[in-house]
Amino acid sequence: MSVSGDGDDSDIGTVSTTVLGYPRIGRARELKVATEAYWAGRIDAAELERTGAALRAQVWTELAGAGLDAVPSNTFSFYDHVLDAAVLFDAVPDRYRGVASAAARPGRSLELDVCFAMARGGAGLPSLEMASWFDTNYHYLVPELDQDTRLRLAGRKPEREFTEARALGLDTRPVLVGPLTFLLLARASTVAAAGFTPLDLLDDLVAAYADLLGRLAAAGATWVQLDEPALARDLSERELVGLRRAYTALAAVPARPKLLVSTCFGEIGAALPVLASVGVEAIGLDFVAAPGNLAALAGIGGIGRTTIVAGLVDGRNVWRTNLPAALSTCVPLLGLAGDLVVSTSCSLLHVPLDLTLERGLEAALADRMAFARQKVEEVVLLGRALREDLPAVSAQLTGAESRRTAVLAGLVDDGVRARVASVSGDGPGRVAREIRAGAQTRALGLPVLPTTTIGSFPQTTAIRAARASWRGGEIAEAAYIRAMENEIDQLIALQEDIGLDVLVHGEPERNDMVQYFAEQLAGCAATEHGWVQSYGSRYVRPPILFGDVSRPAPMTVRWVSYAQSRTQRPVKGTLTGPVTMLACSFVRNDQALAETARQVALALRDEIDDLQAAGVRIIQVDEPAIQVLLPLRQAGWKEYMDWAAGVFRLATSSADAETQIHAHLCYAEFGDVVAAIGDLDADVTSVEAARSRMKLVADLRRTGRHRAIGPGVYDVHSPRVPTVAEMEEALQLALDVIEPARLWVNPDCGLKTRGYAAVEPALRNMVAAAGRVRAALPASSRTGSELRGV
Ligand code: GLN
Ligand code: ZN
Repeated sequence: MSVSGDGDDSDIGTVSTTVLGYPRIGRARELKVATEAYWAGRIDAAELERTGAALRAQVWTELAGAGLDAVPSNTFSFYDHVLDAAVLFDAVPDRYRGVASAAARPGRSLELDVCFAMARGGAGLPSLEMASWFDTNYHYLVPELDQDTRLRLAGRKPEREFTEARALGLDTRPVLVGPLTFLLLARASTVAAAGFTPLDLLDDLVAAYADLLGRLAAAGATWVQLDEPALARDLSERELVGLRRAYTALAAVPARPKLLVSTCFGEIGAALPVLASVGVEAIGLDFVAAPGNLAALAGIGGIGRTTIVAGLVDGRNVWRTNLPAALSTCVPLLGLAGDLVVSTSCSLLHVPLDLTLERGLEAALADRMAFARQKVEEVVLLGRALREDLPAVSAQLTGAESRRTAVLAGLVDDGVRARVASVSGDGPGRVAREIRAGAQTRALGLPVLPTTTIGSFPQTTAIRAARASWRGGEIAEAAYIRAMENEIDQLIALQEDIGLDVLVHGEPERNDMVQYFAEQLAGCAATEHGWVQSYGSRYVRPPILFGDVSRPAPMTVRWVSYAQSRTQRPVKGTLTGPVTMLACSFVRNDQALAETARQVALALRDEIDDLQAAGVRIIQVDEPAIQVLLPLRQAGWKEYMDWAAGVFRLATSSADAETQIHAHLCYAEFGDVVAAIGDLDADVTSVEAARSRMKLVADLRRTGRHRAIGPGVYDVHSPRVPTVAEMEEALQLALDVIEPARLWVNPDCGLKTRGYAAVEPALRNMVAAAGRVRAALPASSRTGSELRGV
């Protein structure tokens, strides 16, 4: 029985194939081009819809043509699939409904405009919040719910797309985020009653899903896939009870399609026996991120005649599958479930579309890799190996295996290995914090409440044009360097004029904070077309961290030391930290992440040594993604935070006492990582705080960490210019828990996505706010303190 199609379940124990989801952005990023054109008013809704339909048709025909037995639908989205579910079930906060009148213009679509307003805000309307999709770099929009939200089936998208595929002769399996995950990802709105939790709305939501199942059955769907990745997190008793209630109710819907409840990203623990007993026809388990799912399955004695959809091909990394190993996982599975469906570990949304588009990769590296299209081929091959006789496909299996293990130069670098092995623990370790603080106070001579920025300044069209012409070979390197230095000259002058205390060079030379470093490290490769959706129309091309990492030559020293040569004030160098490098790349899977992180840390330490030698006295290591890799279950947190903080310390371990090390963290649900701040052993830490209105102050009070800290006072995600008064107020709030000698003044994050028109007045206001707060401090805390920088 395949997870779509005719649903003939007379033949038990069959093997078939599917994938849980597929990239939707198009080979030439058609989705981005079209949505941005629609936002700019260059194309109308009808044309946008035509592009959407063409992209969907391409995916369906490609998947069916590759030989998959079952093809998913409704994995397409113009922006985000969680947002689509919110709109489908009418979880639309009132403030967005007003968009209706504005949208009632010819060529616009109300449904799309409400959706885009929730995603992007506009006209004084903030967008919904965004958050990482579990431990991936995909970001979804967080639904906002409260006791007045009336969840109901309010749209037809899944049905429409199912019917659209039918017209192409394809019976697909509509995919939706499942009800439990939807509610666990949602948050209570600001007007929610005390004690309200989104889970309170479970029964309404399940009723809406039941309606949807009826509609999909009437349209002809035989299977529906409900994604429940939230089951890989720790669930409370109440949540487990909710899971049982939801699926017992959905299983009881009369004349419904069969249900596949798919999970991914980790072991589902206590949710497994629940799912096995509620009467759904298929359960999806990830055997890549969570091999332990196999033992758990055996532990409950199997799932009877329920179909197992086995995630055997890694849906979120770019390496070929070890097919013989995957086949041996299938053998015990055949005895623990009814039918077996070979699949990906999660949606292929997280990998680039097609490896054959890449021309620049070294042959042996490309041999070892698989993007979405190649992963589909692997699934199909595994299905054939299990279904037909193995000899028929053995040549293909052998071929695939020899490519997967192709000899690759740079995979092992004995020098790097020996060096990592020779460093015990986190390196030599810096002198005590108090000694460093005194040395830095004397060396830097900063005022109390020093002002600074996080590193990047606006990436102007001139900067981008210079970079593009240099890369395209139109201007010589010397001319490019002059253009960047010119940029730095202007920026240093501007920062001095604004009155900032610690300056930066502005990062004009960096296309991207991860890619810029990856391009210069040995053991890393870049792709030309390896785009992956990060959120909405923002796509990234993650570097491929395939081999032992080292730093052949200085990466940032030229620019930072040039900037320092132009001013008497200290210039802070900025580097991307080891964990963020890993979190934003596709990383080799033949050794532990922590091991690769140590290699990256040593490469950064070399850079810090060179910056120091060049006279740079403040160095900031950015770890905005430290939280992305936080394990989904709390049981793994300590081990993770230990090595994450350890590699930060290793990277900064050779900094002299006088060199001030800053850590920059952002995007953080700060409570989760606040405890780790001390473990980083940085001299100063800056964090995002303005966007969450200084919520972090409460976290700091809770944990009682009193280190030098710069809670952001300027929300850089908004084009608005913050006023002096509001930043002054934010600083006063911070002073409630942070001593004046330990408080820094800075924006939430880098300024590269903003324009100078907003950045300049905002920074002037920030410096003015710092000045006013300084002036109001008691005289004793206004003078230089030995504590500053502690
Ligand atoms: N230094 C980087 C910048 O300013 C930090 C970016 C980040 O934290 N995401 O752009
Ligand atoms: Zn940041």
